[in-house]
Amino acid sequence: MNAADSSVMRGILENRSFEFSENPEEADLIIFNSCSIREHAEDRMFSNLGLAMKKNPKAAFILAGCTAKRHGAKLFKRFPHLGAVVAPSELFSIGETAEKVLSGVAGIEALEGGYGFVPRHGGVSEFVVIQTGCDNYCSYCVVPFLRAAERYRPAEDILREVRCLAASGTKEIVFLGQNVNSYRDEKTGGDFTDLLARAAEIDGILRIRFLTSHPKDISAKLIDEFARNPRLARHLHLPVQSGSDSVLRAMNRKYTSADYLGIVEKLRESAKDVALTTDVIVGFPGETDSDFADTLALIRKADFDGVYVFKYSPREGTASFRMEDDVTEEVKKERLAAGLALAKELALKKREAYIGQKAETLFENDDVGHSSQNYLVFKKGAKAGDFGQVLIKAVSGFRLMAE
Ligand code: SF4
Repeated sequence: MNAADSSVMRGILENRSFEFSENPEEADLIIFNSCSIREHAEDRMFSNLGLAMKKNPKAAFILAGCTAKRHGAKLFKRFPHLGAVVAPSELFSIGETAEKVLSGVAGIEALEGGYGFVPRHGGVSEFVVIQTGCDNYCSYCVVPFLRAAERYRPAEDILREVRCLAASGTKEIVFLGQNVNSYRDEKTGGDFTDLLARAAEIDGILRIRFLTSHPKDISAKLIDEFARNPRLARHLHLPVQSGSDSVLRAMNRKYTSADYLGIVEKLRESAKDVALTTDVIVGFPGETDSDFADTLALIRKADFDGVYVFKYSPREGTASFRMEDDVTEEVKKERLAAGLALAKELALKKREAYIGQKAETLFENDDVGHSSQNYLVFKKGAKAGDFGQVLIKAVSGFRLMAE
């Protein structure tokens, strides 16, 4: 989401005749787009911001993103050189804010804005935000507090952006939102699957991906769309977070492990070649050895193609912040290592099954692309924008090596 927001901010600024600089030490304006999902991310960003201010004291600085929203004007005390803080919901004001900051106005707090269409020149693969905010209030998550309630962009506005990107050479779009499955177009009443079907009809768009889905909102219609829509990439990222029903309840996830496995079964019946990835949090308050064993068991049963495992990080303001963080750091580290080891085993097994098979691949850069299943593919001599079937000869690390 932050990469998408950064790309939109860049588009807005370039439309106002700003030029992007590869060198932060020569830039007149430096924007940090921040993530607040884990404490570690915030700490690293603050230290990078301080360092950048020392290295280029003449530049103007803006802090955008969730950390700007979380700490607001307090940040001007800590960083007196900071010109503005811009919350994610106000990023469309970035052009105006940037001009003010460059003219010497300081201490600007986020201005009001909204999401909309920004003409921009696209690369081979581009993010397109379809929905912002979240109403789910998972007990560990700061997003609903920082990115506000769910809002949906009108389908016409989204499709206009996709057409514009396709005309500039984009071949793949990634629809983004905190909870894409709850998308609806207020004008037509169309849902997320309808949006996917309409986007697939746009000339030049060869592949569509989407992130992120909530298991409670996955519809049978969306699962069927994998079988129906050849432009839909064969990949679903569906965060499960835990395999223990009591932990899922404490997380306020609103599904059980059996519900989740039921979705996996339907997906595998409907479209066998769809790769499934997930997120897991280990060491959530109250998580016992037996809860964690349930998580490992679910990972095996679901036979994921990829599992992103994270240690629980308490975030102030969330419901779980008030729970006792009773899993010791040592146990969290052990569970993280066990989760990662299992994730690696499954990921390698899945990739090795492709040796000797063909994989439809889009190359985003020279030599490097992604298969429809979102596996990283390496093929010497491939050019950015190439699209087609490649023969997988070997697996190196997690990469498929192709001819
Ligand atoms: S669905 Fe849950 S984890 Fe995802 S953004 Fe919303 S509150 Fe956070």
